[in-house]
Amino acid sequence: MLKSVNPATGKTVKTYETHSDKGVEKIINATDKSWHQWRIFSFSQRAVFMQNISTLLLSKKEELARLMALEMGKVMREGVAEIEKCAWVCEYYAQNAESFLENENIQTEAKKSYVTFQPLGTILAVMPWNFPFWQVFRFAAPTIMAGNTAVLKHASNVPGCAMAIEDLFREAGFPENVFRTLLIGSGQVENVIKHHAIKAVSLTGSTPAGKSVAAISGSVLKKCVLELGGSDPYLILKDADLETAAKICTAGRLLNAGQSCIAAKRFIVVDWVYSEFLEHFTHEMNRAVFGDPCDSKTTMGPMARTDLRDELHQQVVNSVKMGAEIVLGGEIPNRKGAFYPPTILENVKPGMPAYDEELFGPVASVIRVKDESEAIKVANDTEFGLGAAVFTRDLKNGEHIAEKLLDAGCCFVNDNVKSDPRLPFGGIKESGFGRELSTQGIREFMNMKTVVVK
Ligand code: NAP
Repeated sequence: MLKSVNPATGKTVKTYETHSDKGVEKIINATDKSWHQWRIFSFSQRAVFMQNISTLLLSKKEELARLMALEMGKVMREGVAEIEKCAWVCEYYAQNAESFLENENIQTEAKKSYVTFQPLGTILAVMPWNFPFWQVFRFAAPTIMAGNTAVLKHASNVPGCAMAIEDLFREAGFPENVFRTLLIGSGQVENVIKHHAIKAVSLTGSTPAGKSVAAISGSVLKKCVLELGGSDPYLILKDADLETAAKICTAGRLLNAGQSCIAAKRFIVVDWVYSEFLEHFTHEMNRAVFGDPCDSKTTMGPMARTDLRDELHQQVVNSVKMGAEIVLGGEIPNRKGAFYPPTILENVKPGMPAYDEELFGPVASVIRVKDESEAIKVANDTEFGLGAAVFTRDLKNGEHIAEKLLDAGCCFVNDNVKSDPRLPFGGIKESGFGRELSTQGIREFMNMKTVVVK
């Protein structure tokens, strides 16, 4: 049984029967069968359905945003923006998949030699609850446009979103079983990966889940793409525009109640501007209005579950025990629901959870460093390598730091790290491997086949 619980009230929204092993087997076999048809559709035929789903998403954006608010606490404004982004990624791949997968000719002594990109079959997606639509569509739009079919195992707390996505594919007119949802817990994932019809796996989630799925995929030699946790450093250099940086950093830390893999998590500030930045940052963080995600005045909703809120609070408490100091927030509010206030910790040092671990909620770790080179060292002093940002008025230096010196998959200058259908997205180190989006993303689940005609 899977259960949606409204994190703002603690009330159960709906329960869902899980699929039995037999039911799972039936769905996978159906998606495999469907693949043999879907793979021979032309790009322009596939694009019609993908464009339909884009239009459908836009027509239902309020309704789908409300579903996210109910199941995981996302504020309506952010939910609507998420659905609009899903519509964009569908349209983007409807328009570009064919050119991204064109054959590449290579000159040899043969009459013809080239690389062609052919779909693999049914791909399993294991997805998290934090962007319940976006994470799925950024996988599904390229994968399905490329001629694969897909099965989704969504996070157990968002079964309503999982079923709504399957319904959208149906309503958009896709042939039956091109995209299906499996209502299963994580314990059933191993058997799904090992099923002969599953050809590869895409997982977005925590690093421990990624390691487990990678080990199972490795044992049966199936490719996986892993988009895992992060602890993105934001470097505030001596010549940064501090007021603007504080606004951008706040938005980056509080988006989705701080529950984003590429949220700004560690703020590494050079001594010269430390106090001034902290003052602006505290002011901005303190302006957040948290409450009912469906209320238009609310800028930050609850966290997705009370157990996750309690884990985050424990990381704060343990860090404080080790010497971190609370500048803002840091206490569980006396009200129903999984709420946690915007929180700032300073005097954060190696060995503390706030330094070493991912803080998956609205808690900012502020770290004082003496200069730029120490800032870069601290930025890279982490197991993670998803995103990073640097704030400076010297764009040339900022770009040099972003390109050459920061160990992360996506580095931004003077802005929040964001995903964008046009740009490849992914991490290094314990943040995973492989890329989603752009040309690179659509090629992940393809047989990159060499053809030679003598
Ligand atoms: P999670 O607990 O790892 O769950 C993610 C998905 O994996 C869920 O569907 C979950 O199913 C499943 N899962 C968990 N353990 C598993 C296992 N041992 N074997 C197979 N499947 C397993 O992560 P979350 O709490 O939903 O999401 C938060 C994490 O995701 C954060 O660390 C965040 O940084 C990361 N994330 C990364 C990206 C990125 O693009 N890099 C994007 C978003 C989030 P159940 O729900 O049934 O347990």
